[in-house]
Amino acid sequence: MKKKMSLPMQILIALIAGIVVGFILYSADLANIATNYLKPFGDIFVNLLKFIVVPVVLLSMIDGILSMNDMRKVGSVGIKTVAYFMVTTAIACVIGLVFANIFNGAGLFPPLNPEEAVYEAKEFNGFMSVLVGIFPTNMWKSFTDANMLQVIVIALFFGGAIMAAGERGKLARDIVSSFYAVIEKLMGFIISLAPIGVFTYMAWVVATQGSEILITLLLVIVCAYLGYIVHAVVVYSLSAKVFAGMSPIKFFKGAFAAMIFAFTSTSSAATLPVSKECAHELGAEDDIASFVLPLGSTINMDGTAIYQCVATVFIASCAGMHLTLGQMVVVVITATLASIGTAGVSGAGMIMLAMVLEALGIPVAYIGLIVAVDRIFDMGRTCLNVTGDIACSLCVTKWESKKQK
Ligand code: ASP
Repeated sequence: MKKKMSLPMQILIALIAGIVVGFILYSADLANIATNYLKPFGDIFVNLLKFIVVPVVLLSMIDGILSMNDMRKVGSVGIKTVAYFMVTTAIACVIGLVFANIFNGAGLFPPLNPEEAVYEAKEFNGFMSVLVGIFPTNMWKSFTDANMLQVIVIALFFGGAIMAAGERGKLARDIVSSFYAVIEKLMGFIISLAPIGVFTYMAWVVATQGSEILITLLLVIVCAYLGYIVHAVVVYSLSAKVFAGMSPIKFFKGAFAAMIFAFTSTSSAATLPVSKECAHELGAEDDIASFVLPLGSTINMDGTAIYQCVATVFIASCAGMHLTLGQMVVVVITATLASIGTAGVSGAGMIMLAMVLEALGIPVAYIGLIVAVDRIFDMGRTCLNVTGDIACSLCVTKWESKKQK
């Protein structure tokens, strides 16, 4: 009997086929075929992923907390995870700024006229209101709005409370683990459809984005991608090697399926089921991965931080502003916070870019300069975001196992 092709392989083939088909449609000026007949299948797939994201994050985190079975371990894993996230994100900002300044200094950023930018920014009420907004007033609303930060808070509270209830909480514990087993099955089925989603979305992106604007902004895109690549190669290779004792090649090979999936879906949250599988294969402990990955898909966004730094320097230069060292420090701080506040869904990083621009007094409407190509940035940054989550789950697994010895 022939062996079934592995999922990463199927996804890779779908990716290449999508690029080829997209390119043919673009050259034949038939992009509307991709938009009208291919993209809808990708949309169905993404809808299915979105539909499963809330139960996956909720149940996976509660289940992870319960299987640690000790609030001290939850605390210790939590602190290590958040520390890893913060440090790597701050490094990402620095890398993003270094590349942006090299490109800008060499006069490589295209001089666009910011007055032509049209972008209607969402209202942004400052960091404290974000903090308050993390705590839900109505649990069901958090679920229906898919407000992932609130869902995480709910999971933390319920996980802790079920544990605290001891014997009397047993039914709740069993219900969580039974539902989680069911959701895992469902997730497996949806993930097996990934090649369809990857193929149709890739064909659509290539068929529609090959336009002039792409060429105009090519250097800004190259700048961001250089930042993504350097961050992955330096920070993740090093943490895989130094902290998790794993060769970088093995790490990237193991994370590959999730990386491609993130690249095409542009959603860390939607990639969660695949990242869990990859982390498991790479040897992350299941209860730790169940805790780290959902949290990471919501707050750990190194790619987004790099993108926000590059975009800020570019937009500032179009607006005729030259950022001082002090302003760069503001960029590092606000981009780190903005990336934490970014939801793991398509395009969210661009919305949070407003926060960084506002901190520097740059009109938010200038985001209009990059709106058209945001998806291209988004593909790379989501890929990096997800890779960072997997790397963290491996490092924390190692740190916890050392502690137990
Ligand atoms: N799409 C990204 C993610 O899901 C977030 C962003 O837009 O930066 O990780």
